[in-house]
Amino acid sequence: MALVSVEDARSFVLSSCRRLEPVRTSIVEAVGHVLAEAVRSSEPVPPFTNSSMDGYAVRSRDVKDVPARLRVTGVLPAGVDPGRLVVGEGEAARIMTGAVVPPGADAVCMVEHTRGEEGFVTIDEAVGPGTNIRNAGDDIAAGDEVFAVGALLSAAHIGVLASLGLEEVLVFPRPRVGVVSTGDELTNGPGQLALGKIRDSNRPALLAQVKLDGFVPVDLGHAPDEPDALAKTLQEAAQECDALLTSGGVSVGERDFVRTVLEKLGGQHARWLQVAVRPGKPFAFSTFPPSGTPVFGLPGNPVSALVSYELFARPSLRLMAGHENLDRPRLAARAEVDLLRQPDGRLHLVRVHANASTDGTLHVRPSGGQSSHQLHALASANALAFVPDGEGVVAGEIVEVMVLDAGTL
Ligand code: AMP
Ligand code: MG
Repeated sequence: MALVSVEDARSFVLSSCRRLEPVRTSIVEAVGHVLAEAVRSSEPVPPFTNSSMDGYAVRSRDVKDVPARLRVTGVLPAGVDPGRLVVGEGEAARIMTGAVVPPGADAVCMVEHTRGEEGFVTIDEAVGPGTNIRNAGDDIAAGDEVFAVGALLSAAHIGVLASLGLEEVLVFPRPRVGVVSTGDELTNGPGQLALGKIRDSNRPALLAQVKLDGFVPVDLGHAPDEPDALAKTLQEAAQECDALLTSGGVSVGERDFVRTVLEKLGGQHARWLQVAVRPGKPFAFSTFPPSGTPVFGLPGNPVSALVSYELFARPSLRLMAGHENLDRPRLAARAEVDLLRQPDGRLHLVRVHANASTDGTLHVRPSGGQSSHQLHALASANALAFVPDGEGVVAGEIVEVMVLDAGTL
């Protein structure tokens, strides 16, 4: 069977996935979601011209020559309407940060540069027009398009929405992602392992990755290597989930039934691919009619399952969640040691630890054993190095890396 490039396999799965139907949600709940409607401001922010300092609101002409002694005609705390207060010639108003700048005043002198006395203030620093004043609308003007469809909502976005008086916003929902492991050899939890049995690590790892990526993990348990049982689990789960992940059972073993089940439930939508990548070669995919729920048949080996998720499931789930940027950051790095390999027609993804040197360049070295069952080296990695087909990369050469955890660079 011909190998399919990572790019072609990725394009195929992406073309089979759709954005989820937007939902209206409270603004705090919306953080991390992608905006599904443009947001316009109906009012300026700040809503009125106000002081950025504690001090005295003055007419700048009156303080051209300092020291200048002015009569204090009022006190303006934040939150108070200045009413009829006007700052006239030779006058000043005590003003706090965020208070309305009264008519007549065109500057604020910082309190640190003044000397107060009963009913008067002496200003020791000349200020030009506009000094220490924040104009109405200088953050956001009324009528502006504040955020476009596709904006990824950060905490600052939520603050802006709140400052505009919005309580709810239309966003793409987080996909609910069902995760099922397949394999008669799998057990869970503590206790003596019978010979031949292993503990299921893919399901907890995939549930955790789904959660980290901002989707909603749904634990579907573990299915035996028996096509009817797996078909029943997947069929039911497709009703309540937006996407499904299976692991194991996509190779050419006698008891690899995931492909058969996807063909049975997905009909002509089912594909079984041999991807030109290592780890992560076998991969099955289908959508289930009538809902179109995508099902990702990830390989069973623990590293392959997570790498295949990274390459195919994660970008698809991000697309469903409305993201415009589907991929992890890709950066150029310098290999600290040889990353040698044999030509085999496949891209090799090497688990590496990357760290940024003081001059800003990234350096990478393998994080441990590179076989597809050696999950420990993936736990120690913060990036995958893309070593193209050929003889590999020698120490000192540049290699492209996909950053898995930017927080540890
Ligand atoms: P398979 O493709 O089902 O033959 O699985 C390939 C390898 O991955 C076998 O050694 C399996 O035992 C192992 N494997 C499959 N599923 C899991 C799992 N959920 N957790 C840990 N290892 C697994
Ligand atoms: Mg299996």
